[in-house]
Amino acid sequence: MLKGLRLWHKIALLVACLLIGVGIPLAIKFAHRAPQRLATPALEDDAHWRELRLKMVREQIASSGIQDPRVLAAMEAVPRHAFVPPEWLSQAYDDHPLPIGYGQTISQPYVVALMTELLDIQPGDKVLEIGTGSGYQAAILAQLTDRVYTIEIVEPLCLQAAERLKNLKVHVRCADGYYGWEEYAPYDGIIVTCAPDHIPQPLVNQLADGGRMVIPVGPPGSYQTLWLIQRKGQEITSERIGHVLFVPLLRSAEDLTP
Ligand code: SAH
Repeated sequence: MLKGLRLWHKIALLVACLLIGVGIPLAIKFAHRAPQRLATPALEDDAHWRELRLKMVREQIASSGIQDPRVLAAMEAVPRHAFVPPEWLSQAYDDHPLPIGYGQTISQPYVVALMTELLDIQPGDKVLEIGTGSGYQAAILAQLTDRVYTIEIVEPLCLQAAERLKNLKVHVRCADGYYGWEEYAPYDGIIVTCAPDHIPQPLVNQLADGGRMVIPVGPPGSYQTLWLIQRKGQEITSERIGHVLFVPLLRSAEDLTP
C-alpha cells in the first residue's frame, strides 16, 4: 500500500505515526505527574517559599540574637506569605513590616520573633494577643501553645484573620483590646502588637501570677519603648527592652486615619 507513495510522503506518515503512538501516551503520562495546584497558587507552601523562609530565619532572626529553638522553629513553620496581601507577596520574607490595609501593618519578622521569645511561652500556657491584624503573630503563638486568644478592633481585619486562623483553633474576638478578654483571664502571656500611650490596667489585672506581658508604649507616630512586664504575686516589675515602631492602639475603629 505504501508502494505508490513518494519518499517524503512515507517520511511524513512515519512522523505522524510516531507522534500518535509515542507523543500522546507520553503527554498523558506527564500530565498526571504535574504538581497539583491549590486554588490560590500564591498561598501554596512550595519549596520556593520554604527556602525564602529558612533564609529569613537564618539571616534576619537567628543572626540578630534570637536563640530559643522553639521560636525559631515556629518562624520556620508558619507561611508568612499566607498573611500578606497579594500586592506585597514578593516582599513577604523581607526584613520589614508590610501594609495589610486600613492603615495597619504586619510586623517585621524580627520583632515578631523577639516579642515571642520574651513571652517565653510553655506548652499549655494561655496567651492573649491585642492587635490580631493579619493573624501572623497569632499563628506563631499557636505553634507554641494550643491556648491562644487574640483581639482585633478593625472588623474586616478581624474577620479575615479569624478565617485564616480557624484551622489553628485560635480564639479571635472583634473588639477593643484595651479591656483584655476577662472571660478567659488570667493569662500566662499577654502580647500587645499596637502601641498605647500608657499600660492598660485591665491587661495588668489579667496577668497570671508568674505571667509576662510584652508591650510597646509611647506616643503615636514616633518610636515607642518595648517593655517586658512580669507579675510575681502582687509585685509587678518592668524591664525596658528597646525601641520599636508600632501602629497606635485605637480606642475605636472610628479613629482609623483614612
Ligand atoms: N499582630 C499583627 C500586627 C498588628 S498591627 C500581625 O501579626 O499581623 C496592629 C493591629 O492592632 C492592627 O490590626 C490594629 O487594627 C489593631 N488594633 C489597634 N488598636 C486596637 C485595639 N484597641 N484593640 C484591638 N486591636 C487593635
